[in-house]
Amino acid sequence: VFHELGRPLTIETLELEGPRDDEVLVRMEAVGVCGSDLHIVNGTWRRPTPMVLGHEGAGVVVEVGSEVSHLSPGDQVVLSWAPSCGACRACREGRPARCEALRATTSQGTLIDGRTGLSLDGSTVYRMTATGCLAEHITVRGSAALPVQGIALQEAALLGCAALTGVGAVLYAARQDPGATVVVVGAGGVGQFVVQAARIAGASVVVVVDPVEERRACARALGATDDVSPEDVHAVLQTVVPGGADVVYNAVGSPETTALSVDLTRAGGKTVVVGMAATGERLDLDPFDFTYREKTLVGTIYGSLDPEQALPELVGLVRTGALDLASLVGPTYPLERVNDAFEAARLGAAGRVLVMPGERGRAG
Ligand SMILES: [Zn+2]
Ligand SMILES: [Zn+2]
Repeated sequence: VFHELGRPLTIETLELEGPRDDEVLVRMEAVGVCGSDLHIVNGTWRRPTPMVLGHEGAGVVVEVGSEVSHLSPGDQVVLSWAPSCGACRACREGRPARCEALRATTSQGTLIDGRTGLSLDGSTVYRMTATGCLAEHITVRGSAALPVQGIALQEAALLGCAALTGVGAVLYAARQDPGATVVVVGAGGVGQFVVQAARIAGASVVVVVDPVEERRACARALGATDDVSPEDVHAVLQTVVPGGADVVYNAVGSPETTALSVDLTRAGGKTVVVGMAATGERLDLDPFDFTYREKTLVGTIYGSLDPEQALPELVGLVRTGALDLASLVGPTYPLERVNDAFEAARLGAAGRVLVMPGERGRAG
């Protein structure tokens, strides 16, 4: 539970309402620590507290509401953090992650119907991104629990945010052309999936930019053809992609890295903003990049496709060996060491840092 800025996360026993007719109860086994979780503990995103963090997770169905027909107890699932309304324009266009009702409830820390189903000594406990899965058990809308069989749960967890976001940015938002030259700014969890998807989409060059050498090495192993630290980026790119790259992905999301990404994009090319900025930040860009130089700035959230549709495609890529999940599973921690896990994520561990709630007790 995140109580307030500067205070470590605490492990507490909460009251969890049993699954409603359209919900399922899931035993969480693996939960990734995402940049969005860090935004909340760092205070760069303000959310109501106390709040259960976590929105990238996989687990096993324990109990199924009477209206949920696609799941049974024992099924392995990955959670979608976009349990949308299904009725607004975004939902009708197949983009639940930009559902208007979801956006509103996300900032209020509730589920889409305004409640949380969680309390501590009778007081409401909030949930991150309509999910809050950094827990031993959680209830979610049945439609937000997507079945994934035959993939280890610690690998499946990555599908829930980092993989859908990173792969979707390339395949569904940028719609990158075969043979494209690509730069990926930021080689954290999402950036590593952007690198892989850029390769899958047939990029001729994939340059990864990151200050952490271990992350750059990981990206090289996953298909990056070149790597560079931020201070050398201009010098190196002048020889690798003179004139700029066809597509530049900003997997970091800060205004500075977006400005850098636009700068590294060739005239007529595309800059794709994938990472999330802190609340209140503003972009400062040269307008002539978009007129004289005809660059395009594209944004994407959660892969720019309905997770129900995208997930099976990603699972297909995992099965053929095109998409590697296993080597992106970073250090894992039992629930008791959740604060160590967040610290590792903050320091830029190579691979996704995972918390394993199922190991509580088992690990002693
Ligand atoms: Zn995330
Ligand atoms: Zn909606």
